[in-house]
Amino acid sequence: MTAHIIDGKTIAQQVRAEWKLRADALKARGITPGMAVIIVGNDPASKVYVANKVKACAELGLYSIHRELPADITEAQLLSEIEALNNDPKIHGILVQLPLPKHLDANQVIEAINPDKDVDGFHQKNVGALVTGETPFPSCTPYGVMVLLEKTGIAIEGRHAVIVGRSNIVGKPMALLLLHKNATVTICTSKTVDLAKHTRDADILVAAVGRANFITGDMVKPGATVIDVGINRNSDGKLVGDVDFASVKEVAGYLTPVPGGVGPMTIAMLVANTVRAAERLSGFGKQIG
Ligand code: NDP
Repeated sequence: MTAHIIDGKTIAQQVRAEWKLRADALKARGITPGMAVIIVGNDPASKVYVANKVKACAELGLYSIHRELPADITEAQLLSEIEALNNDPKIHGILVQLPLPKHLDANQVIEAINPDKDVDGFHQKNVGALVTGETPFPSCTPYGVMVLLEKTGIAIEGRHAVIVGRSNIVGKPMALLLLHKNATVTICTSKTVDLAKHTRDADILVAAVGRANFITGDMVKPGATVIDVGINRNSDGKLVGDVDFASVKEVAGYLTPVPGGVGPMTIAMLVANTVRAAERLSGFGKQIG
């Protein structure tokens, strides 16, 4: 078997086109959805992610600003930057690029963002809403995975979804979103005994580990859908996922590539969350959906 390769780039373009219509509807009423990205320090990978996010907003005609703050900024200064954005009517979505330098408490910083502008979905209010079932801002990467599955026509209800990884930004929200769609969900971690036993039982396998080529063909059930969230550099400096593409594509039914799979969806969903935030804050458009 050779897996059908899910083209995240094309699906992300479709999603952006759909959300552009909603953004245009707001603009016709005089509201331009606006996003602010804060980056602290000089991490090169973070700079690339931020540049991509700002570019995606510009392509959809959204207003965006990004604040580059020095690595030695105090927490009080950073919180005051966030407060200014909370009070800026042109800004509907605020995103603080993680990770932050160690002297800053990321939890405090996230909690300072107005939850109605928390387009990453990391504020406790929005995390709580995700647990109980309906958040306006699902975190962008798992949200993107859900849209990929839906647009590819992969059935979720009643299927066994296995997620490898339990981070707050990927693994846990991923599990909840799949659970809300009636999957039977297993979460595996670094402490899981006999990982392959679990992954081989997955109809939908999501890898969010952060280890290059970690999931190999022998760990996958024939015909399974395999979603690779990982972004890693291999020893040649090449971008690779958590899934060993060569061996897994011979076993899986569907597989996302890296690059060109989940990554473009993450950015598309950030744009979606920003437009939704603008709809909610302005009182126009759909409240959720
Ligand atoms: P974290 O490092 O926060 O979490 C990794 C998770 O993997 C942890 O829960 C850890 O378990 C688990 N893990 C580590 N080793 C093993 C193992 N041997 N067996 C089973 N589980 C293991 O990473 P993130 O969730 O933030 O990111 C995961 C990957 O996704 C990274 O490559 C990251 O770059 C990428 N990413 C991609 C995005 C995109 O847009 N495509 C967006 C965000 C992330 P434990 O909790 O026990 O330590």
